[in-house]
Amino acid sequence: MFDYLIVGTGLYGAVFAAEAKKKGKSCLAVERRRHIGGNIYTEESHGINIHKYGPHIFHTDSDEAWDYVNQYVRFNRYTNTPVARYGDELFNLPFNMNTFHSLWGVKTPGEAKKIIEAQTREARDRIGDTPANLEEQALILAGKDIYEKLIKGYTEKQWGRRATELPSFIIKRLPFRFSFDNNYFNDRYQGIPIGGYTPLIEKLFEGTEVRLDTDFFENKEELLKEAERVVFTGQIDAYFDFCYGPLEYRSLRFETEVLDTDNFQGSAIVNYTEYEIPYTRIIEHKHFEEFGSYERKSEAGKTVITHEYPAAWKKGDEPYYPVNNDTNNALYEKYKKLAGESGVFFGGRLGKYKYYDMDDVIMDALADTRAIL
Ligand code: FAD
Ligand code: UDP
Repeated sequence: MFDYLIVGTGLYGAVFAAEAKKKGKSCLAVERRRHIGGNIYTEESHGINIHKYGPHIFHTDSDEAWDYVNQYVRFNRYTNTPVARYGDELFNLPFNMNTFHSLWGVKTPGEAKKIIEAQTREARDRIGDTPANLEEQALILAGKDIYEKLIKGYTEKQWGRRATELPSFIIKRLPFRFSFDNNYFNDRYQGIPIGGYTPLIEKLFEGTEVRLDTDFFENKEELLKEAERVVFTGQIDAYFDFCYGPLEYRSLRFETEVLDTDNFQGSAIVNYTEYEIPYTRIIEHKHFEEFGSYERKSEAGKTVITHEYPAAWKKGDEPYYPVNNDTNNALYEKYKKLAGESGVFFGGRLGKYKYYDMDDVIMDALADTRAIL
């Protein structure tokens, strides 16, 4: 008999297992995919660690989260500097002096501010100070030019909805600054684990029995007999058989190919911000590892790229992003109430229905294990 059955071997399940082991508790982890790691799983191809479920950059302001992962793996000094492509134009992200120079030819923060202030003032005069949706939020924050070239098309593709029907909070995640700094994140720490994310997950699961290719729902009766308590990191609505109706998610489709060239796009991530281009971004995985060192670590003459296509979600698809608008958050609260009465612990991005980054998941798992174990 195990103390805990952990459903899902993503980051949350892995941190839970590692913490439980420290406390002398035994866990059995089950995973419906053929591998551990959830969405941070990486797999080697041509000497390159491929981010199989989308590009993952570890970034955090939390000493605790950073120290935690660094106990297990070493990080490289990757700094996320994605490029946005609109037609034949390239722009640096996040919105910074390089972007403003490409957009308007301005050379100083003063000149850039003048243009942005004129455009945002125009928006505020029309909309007021309380944006009702993402379009209004973006116009108030960034003005018309940036919104139309760099935000509108990308966002509408990503979320499958008009920007006027999306909640404004999504756009608060885009940093905006008046220096020549292409570092996408504001956080104190960032990097990619040397060797990819899979070794991190493997280390966290050391000493824990893991069964792959095992869906909880298909084996529920037998699995429940094997453990005292359940930690569930899959979809909370699925656990309760969608009794209040499904929560909404966004899905993705990845098309990965090996190219006979050393360097396809010169950046790990290029965002395609036009609505007409069906993918949101192209990932060139080797740059996550070779960034800054300019030392080839992968096979000569080869690179691996992934086109990332946004997709609608329906039952059975991979639920990559929760859609945290008011309606879904209210529905989640109903499931959360059931969860509280069920005796099962729910964790992670799908168990808590939150747009969590990796460091959020770690902090959450550490808080939960402190409370539970
Ligand atoms: P998951 O990784 O989803 O793990 C849940 C696991 O449970 C999965 O392996 C699933 O197969 C399994 N499971 C579900 N149901 C069952 C079942 N019934 N039976 C058995 N197993 C089951 N975060 C960052 O910090 N930086 C980034 O750059 C970043 N980029 C991202 C890009 C994309 C495209 C996406 C989708 C996410 C990104 N994230 C990023 C977020 C990051 O992926 C998550 O924070 C983290 O992976 C969540 O871990 P988790 O354990 O909660 O969930
Ligand atoms: N976004 C955008 N243009 C870009 C990149 C991002 O408009 O070139 C918007 C878009 O609405 C997206 C949000 O910013 O959903 C957050 O994107 P980010 O890449 O920061 O986060 P992720 O999609 O990885 O969660």
